[in-house]
Amino acid sequence: MNKEYYGKLIFEQSVPGRTGFSLPTDSYTANLSDLPQTLLRGESPRLPEVDEPSLVRHYTNLSTNNFGVDTGFYPLGSCTMKYNPKINDEIAADPVVAALHPSQPDYTVQGALKAYHTLQSMLSEIGGMAEFTLNPYAGAHGELTGLMVIHAYHDARSDTRRNKVIVPDSAHGTNPASANVAGYKIVEVKSLPDGTVDIDDLRGKLDDTVAAMMMTNPNTTGMFEKNIPQIAAMVHEAGALMYYDGANLNPMLGVARPGDMGFDVMHINLHKTFSTPHGGGGPGSGPVGVRAGLEEFLPNPRVVYDEEADLYTVVTDSPDALGRISAWLGNYTVELKALAYILSLGTENLALIGPMATLNANYIKDSLKDDYLLPIEGRCKHEFVFDGLRDKSTGVTTLNVAKRLLDFGFHAPTIYFPLLFHESLMIEPTETESRETLDRFIDVMKRIAREAAETPQTVIDAPHNTPVTHPDDTEAALHPVVKWSDLQPSATL
Ligand SMILES: *Cc1c(COP(=O)(O)O)cnc(C)c1O
Repeated sequence: MNKEYYGKLIFEQSVPGRTGFSLPTDSYTANLSDLPQTLLRGESPRLPEVDEPSLVRHYTNLSTNNFGVDTGFYPLGSCTMKYNPKINDEIAADPVVAALHPSQPDYTVQGALKAYHTLQSMLSEIGGMAEFTLNPYAGAHGELTGLMVIHAYHDARSDTRRNKVIVPDSAHGTNPASANVAGYKIVEVKSLPDGTVDIDDLRGKLDDTVAAMMMTNPNTTGMFEKNIPQIAAMVHEAGALMYYDGANLNPMLGVARPGDMGFDVMHINLHKTFSTPHGGGGPGSGPVGVRAGLEEFLPNPRVVYDEEADLYTVVTDSPDALGRISAWLGNYTVELKALAYILSLGTENLALIGPMATLNANYIKDSLKDDYLLPIEGRCKHEFVFDGLRDKSTGVTTLNVAKRLLDFGFHAPTIYFPLLFHESLMIEPTETESRETLDRFIDVMKRIAREAAETPQTVIDAPHNTPVTHPDDTEAALHPVVKWSDLQPSATL
């Protein structure tokens, strides 16, 4: 980042009369005089007047202000910000794919439908489910779709008293939100001090008004819920279904399958686990899988393969299916990136993702637990949570640590989530980082802990090197300044 250019808006660099282009004067003025006077504007538009180098530098510098996984380590817990191989983007951007129209007759897009169907089958194999729909656009959208499937299942059995969904207090915020949008009341179940579900609390909350229990495993603190078989048996006994939030499937790949644990419905975030760069709200894909017996409720349209005729067909009228939950068959290019990712890794390497993500997380956790407070001991999976610095006397908070990391070119971990601890600092390194990157991160985290003890103000005043240092978070949320005219109230464009 070139500091000289930062902070000067393109309008502030404007010099009257300066241009960054030249047009052929003759034809330009000739054409202009052909236009009727009534169509000509009275005064010139208020555009910045800059030379070409200033313009190019302005936008090039702006483009490097953003932090991304392509520019640095991004250990954001619960988000799986792994590196995404560029080959997947290239395949998805190929004109052969990008120029397809969703309403093309099936016989003209057999290859595209085969890719779709292949991904459906592979996700079913990975999740231990009978069938997947790829239609939902995101994790939360998948949750909603999955809960609608569960609703349809109970309705089909005329079991209409079920109006509650049980959600652990450590769950991702989208879980209760989706259940609410699906028309359910939320019942919260407590976590034990080790972050796992309190089975006694759950027992008291199960009855014939519960439609489903939503769970994340490994849970939000990165711990594996060992009691899933028992929980699933209790939930099924009460006539409810088990929903698996598989947004971050990383730690499970090659290790365990939700379907084998007793889950009935699940979603996967292709944009986290299966290689689509994400952030800022898109693009995403949240396929939903169901166990045998629930396939009929999955939404339309769906891709069906006729083996005898070797033909793929888009079916839009399965009678028991949910209606459309997306414009067509979902975010096709995201689906294609996932397929390219799975095929390029192959079974053997795919099965290394879980163990590698787990190894990396434990390596960081064990290297830092003398400096940072580890509230939950033991082997974590793909992520873990510190409760701030171990030394609580320094006055240095998790927010300060997160901001100081920016000075060293690291994205901050997730902070103040989960809500189980006051100073949560949630770290997920993913499987794609080298030993050297992890070591550099560990060194910097140790250095920050040392600074907190010796020169706390250095950490409290951080960041020192970023273009923007200390925005007023509340003011920025309430009155965001997002355009030039917000800064210059008198300016009109
Ligand atoms: C990211 C995430 C979600 C939501 O996924 P979106 O695609 O952002 O809607 C749900 N649950 C968990 C555990 C997640 O990490």
